Amino acid sequence: MRVRRRARRALAPPDGNRPRRDPRRERDPDATIEPLIEVGPTGRPRRDPRRIRREAMTAATGRLRLDRSGRSGAGTAAGAPAAHAVAAGPAITRIEDPAFWIVVVPDYEAGRLSSHDRDVFGAARKLADRDGGGVVAVVFEPGEDPGPAGADRLIRFDDPGYVGYAPAHRATAIEALIAELAPRHLLFADTLVAGGDIGRRVAAARHVTPATRVHRLRVDEVVSRGDGARSDYTRTPPRVLLLAPECEDPIAPDRCHEARPVAPPAVDIGDGDGGIRDLGLLPIDPGAVPLAEADFVLSAGNGVTDWDAFHALARALGAAEGGSRVVCDAGLMPRERQIGASGTLIEARCYLAFGISGAPQHLQGIARCEKVVAVNTDLHAEMVKRGDLSAIKDAQEVMPALTRLLEAQARDT
Ligand SMILES: Cc1cc2nc3c(=O)[nH]c(=O)nc-3n(C[C@H](O)[C@H](O)[C@H](O)COP(=O)(O)OP(=O)(O)OC[C@H]3O[C@@H](n4cnc5c(N)ncnc54)[C@H](O)[C@@H]3O)c2cc1C
Repeated sequence: MRVRRRARRALAPPDGNRPRRDPRRERDPDATIEPLIEVGPTGRPRRDPRRIRREAMTAATGRLRLDRSGRSGAGTAAGAPAAHAVAAGPAITRIEDPAFWIVVVPDYEAGRLSSHDRDVFGAARKLADRDGGGVVAVVFEPGEDPGPAGADRLIRFDDPGYVGYAPAHRATAIEALIAELAPRHLLFADTLVAGGDIGRRVAAARHVTPATRVHRLRVDEVVSRGDGARSDYTRTPPRVLLLAPECEDPIAPDRCHEARPVAPPAVDIGDGDGGIRDLGLLPIDPGAVPLAEADFVLSAGNGVTDWDAFHALARALGAAEGGSRVVCDAGLMPRERQIGASGTLIEARCYLAFGISGAPQHLQGIARCEKVVAVNTDLHAEMVKRGDLSAIKDAQEVMPALTRLLEAQARDT
C-alpha cells in the first residue's frame, strides 16, 4: 500500500494537481514520445496535421496507414496494432410497466414489415415516448420481428380464420384487445385492402370518427388529407388513426425494442367467413403494373445487350420491367419504365438491377426499395455497393442461367 502511494507521488506534477499517468512511458521509459496533440499558448489543444500524417507512415514501407477509427492524432503511434471496434447490435430497450399502450396493426404482408408499416411504428413511438407509453404490435401470421421497428410487445392472433383477406375477423380480434388493454390510440397503415379496411371497421364499431390519411402527426395534433388531396384537416388525435406513408420517420437503426411475445385475448370468431369470402389473388400481367406500385422490379442498364434474355427473365420471375435513363434514351425501353430522379421513384420489395452503374439520379429512384440485388461486371460500381446482394458477372450469362433455373423449378413443382 505504501509502495503504491510513493510511486504515485513520484508521478505527481509539481503544481500539485492530480497525478497523471503516461502508459506509453511506463511501457518504455527510454522512448522519446512527443504528444500528437499539444497544448498551445492559449491553453487550448493544438493538432499538427503534418506530423500526424508523418507518424502514420510505416517505417518499413513508407506507405500511408490510414486510421479509420476516428481517433486520428489521439496517440495512435505508427506500428502499434490498431484496435478493432467490435460491431455490436443496438441495445434492446425494455419497458416493463408503461403508463399506457399504443396499439399498432401493421399490414405485415407475408409476415414482413413494409416501409409504410415502419413509418406507422415511428409514429407510434412518437405518441408513446413522451409520456412513458409502450407500443404493442398486433399481427395475424408468423413473420418478422417488429422489435427493431419499435414494438415493446408482440401479440399474434393465431387462427385459420384470420388468414388471407379477413378484415371482419381481424377487426373482431382487435375489439377484444381494446377491451383488455384499453389502448390510448390504435394505429393502422391507411392501405386499401389491409390496415385501411380493418381500421375503418374498428372505428365504425366503436362509433368514433377515425383520422384518415394522416400525413403529419404530433402528440397533440394530427393533419389529415382529404377533399381529393386539396385540403388538410387538423384535429386532436382521435383514438383510431389511419396513417399515410411517410407520415413519420421510422425509428433510428441504432434503436431496438423488445417485442416481447404476449398471449392474445380469447376471441370467438365462429366458423363463418364473417360475410367475406376470399377467392384468392388474381394473376395479372406484371408488365401492366405501374412501376410505382410494383413489388418486384427487374431493371436493365447499359450493360444489358441481350434483350430477349432480359424479357424472358422478367416473365419467369413475374417481375415488372424497368430501366436506367440510358436505355430509355436509346429507345430500348419505353420512357414510362425509366427509374430514377427524372423517371419513377419505386418502392419495390425487391429490385434486381442488371448492368446498371448506380448513378446518383438512378439511386434516388430506388431509395425506398427493400432489397436490392445487383449484377455487374464492375466490382466498384455504386450499384454493387448499394446492393444487399451483388454478383460480379456478365449480365448476358446470368440472365439465361436464372431463367433456366426458374423454369426447372416450375417443372419440378
Ligand atoms: C438531370 C439528370 C437526371 C437524370 N435522371 C436519371 C434517372 O432518372 N434515371 C437514371 O437511370 N439516370 C438518370 N440520369 C443519368 C445518370 O446520370 C446515368 O447516366 C445513368 O443512370 C447511367 O445509366 P446506366 O447505369 O445504365 O449506364 P452506364 O453508366 O453506362 O453503366 C453501365 C453499367 O453496366 C456495367 N456493365 C457493362 N457491361 C456489363 C455486362 N456485360 N454485364 C453486367 N454489367 C455490365 C458497367 O460496369 C456499368 O456499371 C440523369 C442524369 C441527369 C444529368
